[in-house]
Amino acid sequence: MYDIQGYIEAESVSDAVALLASNPRLKIIAGGTDVLIKLRHGQMEGAELLSIRKIKELERIEQLADGTIVIGALATFAQIFHEPIIHNNIPALAEAAVSMGGPQIRNVATIGGNICNGATSADSASTLFALDARLRLRSSAGERVVPVQEFYLGPGKVDLKPDEMLSEFLISPAGFRGFGGHYIKFAMRKAMDIATLGVSVMCKISGDVFREVKIGLGVAGPTPLRCVEAEEFAKGKAIYAETLAGIGRLAVKSTNARTSWRASREYREHLVEELTQRALHVAIVRAGGAEIG
Ligand SMILES: Cc1cc2nc3c(=O)[nH]c(=O)nc-3n(C[C@H](O)[C@H](O)[C@H](O)COP(=O)(O)OP(=O)(O)OC[C@H]3O[C@@H](n4cnc5c(N)ncnc54)[C@H](O)[C@@H]3O)c2cc1C
Repeated sequence: MYDIQGYIEAESVSDAVALLASNPRLKIIAGGTDVLIKLRHGQMEGAELLSIRKIKELERIEQLADGTIVIGALATFAQIFHEPIIHNNIPALAEAAVSMGGPQIRNVATIGGNICNGATSADSASTLFALDARLRLRSSAGERVVPVQEFYLGPGKVDLKPDEMLSEFLISPAGFRGFGGHYIKFAMRKAMDIATLGVSVMCKISGDVFREVKIGLGVAGPTPLRCVEAEEFAKGKAIYAETLAGIGRLAVKSTNARTSWRASREYREHLVEELTQRALHVAIVRAGGAEIG
């Protein structure tokens, strides 16, 4: 049923990177919710799999003394959703986690697999973009840390060399402290559906003025993206409905959505304009601001 040439289990990160260095044909399998579908569809014929599932240290979610949140690549979406560190500091990521798949998928699907598959629809991606998350990539030669925005090279393509693996996500306090955030997944049905659009916003306010706004989008282009022009426009602007409308309009300018069987380009652009504003309404309140009528 599955055309697999080999299957090895790594016991530790150093074990995994040594195995990757010794055999560049090895393909990592974490939760397997993407890999097994690809195998079933004949897209990974003769694969030699390296399971990292047993590496306990990659499951950790912790907050360091300097406030940095570390999320191991093997943290599942169920784990992320139930983790107080995530709820208390970056609730938008908890919202993204619970929006993906169904309970069975959330119990095994990992955040590392969600990002390493390079899909623009990955539910965690837009929030990780808005948080300015960084990825720690390990190989037998050492490690490098890459901003998530630079990790995506194109649809299904990420900046991961054959001998590298993702070990952790790092989210600095500068990316979330003082911000209110919110994630909205728009899909054709409420559960078990891939996003037609994903919008994650973070905002920091001073009185009734935006100090900073960050907008991450999924399925609005070939890779997840940030809406830089809208973010620049928002800086220092009064928090009125008109400002939000301007942010929504400018957010569309950063997109490069396509028409697919799920939705037309025009419909996705409409969703970007509307849902960015709706997400900001919630984020403003979470940042300590008043509700906008
Ligand atoms: C029924 C169903 C519903 C789904 N619904 C959603 C949804 O609503 N939203 C959504 O975003 N996704 C959804 N998915 C897709 C999938 O579950 C996610 O992308 C999931 O997060 C993948 O994680 P995984 O651990 O299963 O990855 P795997 O399948 O194990 O791996 C995925 C890819 O990442 C690579 N990889 C994994 N971990 C690492 C690592 N640490 N270092 C380097 N490379 C690595 C693998 O080599 C592979 O290329 C769904 C899938 C199914 C089957």
